[in-house]
Amino acid sequence: MVKVDKELCTSCGICVDSCPVQAIEMDGDDLAEIDQDICENHQVCIDVCPVDAIAEE
Ligand code: SF4
Repeated sequence: MVKVDKELCTSCGICVDSCPVQAIEMDGDDLAEIDQDICENHQVCIDVCPVDAIAEE
């Protein structure tokens, strides 16, 4: 499962645009959140995050 470490996320939004299935949105605190029901585990977001806030767990 791909997850966002919200302690590291800087709200840049790059991952939101990178996701091929639009599984990532910014939450109420403007931090990235992955909808696990939509995510198909492409892991593109892991590569694009500039602060390595996204990882497979
Ligand atoms: S790319 Fe990384 S820092 Fe930017 S919004 Fe996504 S998780 Fe946060």
